[in-house]
Amino acid sequence: MIYVSTRQASAPVDAAAAIRAGAAPDGGLYMPAALPVLDIEQFDPARPLAQTAADILAPFLAGSPLEGEARAMAADAFNFLLKSVDLGQLSVLELFHGPTGAFKDFGARFLFRCLDRIAGADAPVSVLAATSGDTGGAVGCAAEGRAHARAVILFPKGRISAFQEHQLCCWRAPVRALRVDGDFDACQTLVKQAFADPQLSARHGLTSANSISIGRLLPQVCYWAHAALGHAAQAGQAPGLIIPSGNLGNALAALIARNLGFPVGPVVLATNANATLADWARHGVFEPRASIATLANAMDVGAPSNFERLGALPDRAIHSVASVHDDDIRATIRRWHGETGYIACPHTATGLAAFDRLDADAQKERPWIVAATAHPFKFADAVEPVINAEIAAPDNLAGVLERPVEVTDIRADLTELAAALAH
Ligand SMILES: *Cc1c(COP(=O)(O)O)cnc(C)c1O
Repeated sequence: MIYVSTRQASAPVDAAAAIRAGAAPDGGLYMPAALPVLDIEQFDPARPLAQTAADILAPFLAGSPLEGEARAMAADAFNFLLKSVDLGQLSVLELFHGPTGAFKDFGARFLFRCLDRIAGADAPVSVLAATSGDTGGAVGCAAEGRAHARAVILFPKGRISAFQEHQLCCWRAPVRALRVDGDFDACQTLVKQAFADPQLSARHGLTSANSISIGRLLPQVCYWAHAALGHAAQAGQAPGLIIPSGNLGNALAALIARNLGFPVGPVVLATNANATLADWARHGVFEPRASIATLANAMDVGAPSNFERLGALPDRAIHSVASVHDDDIRATIRRWHGETGYIACPHTATGLAAFDRLDADAQKERPWIVAATAHPFKFADAVEPVINAEIAAPDNLAGVLERPVEVTDIRADLTELAAALAH
C-alpha cells in the first residue's frame, strides 16, 4: 500500500512513514494511492470489532514495517465496548466507552501502537499535542506505558475545566503534561515553533497526533464498517449514518468504509454553529473561516482540515449537512431525553437534530445510526441544567478522577519547552 499527498508534491511513502510523518512534507494529507479491494462477503457481522478491524487494517499496512501487526494492534487498541442503543426511530452508536470517554480513544490508541512499533531506542518519537479538549486526554492515555513513543501535552493555564486538566495530567510515563502560562493560541504557536526547529525536531523525533494523521483515520473506518455490517445484516438494508463533525475525520472514515464496499447508506453531517460545511453543501463553495465557540466545543472548527481528503475518494457523496445552533442543541437534548430517556452530549445532540431535520420519508426509508461521540458526563455542566437531572460518572471516567496528577509549569517560550523535552 502506497500513500500519496493530497497536494501531490511529496514522494509516495509506505504506511509506517505516512503515520510517522502526520502531515506530508508538501503540507498535504496522506491518502492511500488506491483503496484495497476487500471481499465484503468474507466479513462476518457477528465477529467482534477487533477481528473485523484486523482484516480491514491489514491491507492498509501491507508493504511497510507494520505489515503483520494489524491483528495484535487492533486487539490491544480496541479492547473496550462499542455499544449500539436502539431508540426506536434510530440507533445511537456509542463510541465513547474507551478510557477517556470520547471517540478519540479509537484513533489515539491505534496511532500510539503504530508509533511505538515504528520508533526504536535509537529513533525516538515524541508526540507534541497542544489541546484543550478530548484529543489531549486520549493521546495521554494512549501513550501511557509505551516503550518508545512518548506524548508531551501542552495546555493553557487557567483556561480549561478542572476535569479536563485532570484528564490531561493523570497519565504515567512516558507522558508529560506542560501547563503553559498563556492562552491556547500561545500553546499552538509554541508547538509550531518546536516543529520548525530542525535540531529540536530531530533530537526528539517530534510529530503530531492531530486529526490529519492517517494513523487516526484508519482505525475509525473499522467501527463504521463493523456497525454497518451489523445493521445491514439485521435490517437487510444499508444504514444511513449521521455524524457530528468538526475536522471531518469521523465522517471521512465513514466515507472510506463505504468506498471499501461496506453497506453504508447516505452520510449526513451534523455541525454546530460553525457552518463552513453547511454553507459548502448549500452553495458549493468551501470557505474556511475562524471558529466560533459553541456548546459542542470539540466541534468548534471553522476550517475542517480533512476536507482536503474528500477529493481523493471516488464516492464522496454527502447527503446533507445540518448546522445546529446552541439553542437547538439544548432543545434537542431536552426533547430526546423527555421522549426516550436518552441523555446526549451536545455533540451527539447535533446528530439527533440532523435526524429530526430529515424529511419523514427519508427517516423511514432505512435504519439510521447517529454517532454518539462523547459521554454526557464530560459535558455535565451544559447538559444537567437542560435535563434537570444529575449525570452519574461512568466507571472509566470515575477512575480517571482517582488518579494522581503530575504537571510541569512553563512559560510560553521555546527555550522552556526545549528544556522540558530534554527531561
Ligand atoms: C473530535 C470530536 C468531534 C468531531 O470529530 P471530527 O472527526 O473532528 O469531525 C465530535 N465530537 C466529539 C466529542 C469530539 O471529541
